[in-house]
Amino acid sequence: QPILSIKNLSKTYASGLSALAEVDLDIARGEIFALLGPNGAGKSTLINIICGIVTPSTGTVTVDGHDIQRDYRAARAMIGLVPQELTTDAFETVRKTVSFSRGLFGLPKNPDHIERVLRDLSLWEKRDSRMMQLSGGMKRRVLIAKALAHEPRVLFLDEPTAGVDVELRQDMWRLVRRLREQGVTVILTTHYIEEAEEMADRVGVIRRGRIILVEEKAELMRKL
Ligand code: ADP
Ligand code: ADP
Repeated sequence: QPILSIKNLSKTYASGLSALAEVDLDIARGEIFALLGPNGAGKSTLINIICGIVTPSTGTVTVDGHDIQRDYRAARAMIGLVPQELTTDAFETVRKTVSFSRGLFGLPKNPDHIERVLRDLSLWEKRDSRMMQLSGGMKRRVLIAKALAHEPRVLFLDEPTAGVDVELRQDMWRLVRRLREQGVTVILTTHYIEEAEEMADRVGVIRRGRIILVEEKAELMRKL
């Protein structure tokens, strides 16, 4: 059974704009999948539907067998999402920001896991800083840590290296490789072919709301 199964997914926004049309996609456990497409192609819409933030017009998404619409809580608990926007509570500490989502998903506190995640992302020294004291790069680290706090089975990275410095980019690649070793599935969106090339096992190309190509990376690179 695939960890993520997307069937006949379409989204027409209230404006009448068709952002996604008839998307079918299965993602295997432990796979690293890159969704490649230009701005406006529908990448964020797709991620937001999978994560239950946007309601689809047609179709279904199941995460490890849980339908995101009907069984939101169980499905969402499997998912870690690192969004593009750096929105957090300015007055909250790093540690609180990161550990908060465990409670949201009804999980017991796990200080050891939180410490590990903070250390992995070079945030341990900053754990008592407030979010407003952090640089953009540090905020992004916090959002990655937050997405990992509840030990998700699927991690979504929405444009993970847009405006990111070299050090964080390398830390991110290292992290993704380690997650893969732990059996975590990683799905990232990008409009850089290099990023898809560097990271992914398989690449899906999305254009005007349609997935026009899905290929093993090696196969895709041969064709380009
Ligand atoms: P990408 O992430 O690939 O840049 P998006 O999913 O953000 O693409 O956008 C796909 C299309 O849907 C774009 O034309 C965008 O303007 C439109 N769109 C995105 N969000 C909304 C919304 N909330 N309401 C109306 N149109 C939207
Ligand atoms: P993330 O960890 O992805 O940054 P949050 O921890 O802010 O996200 O919230 C996770 C998801 O849970 C969000 O999509 C949010 O809409 C949803 N959510 C917020 N409050 C609740 C709640 N009380 N019960 C279930 N889900 C919630």
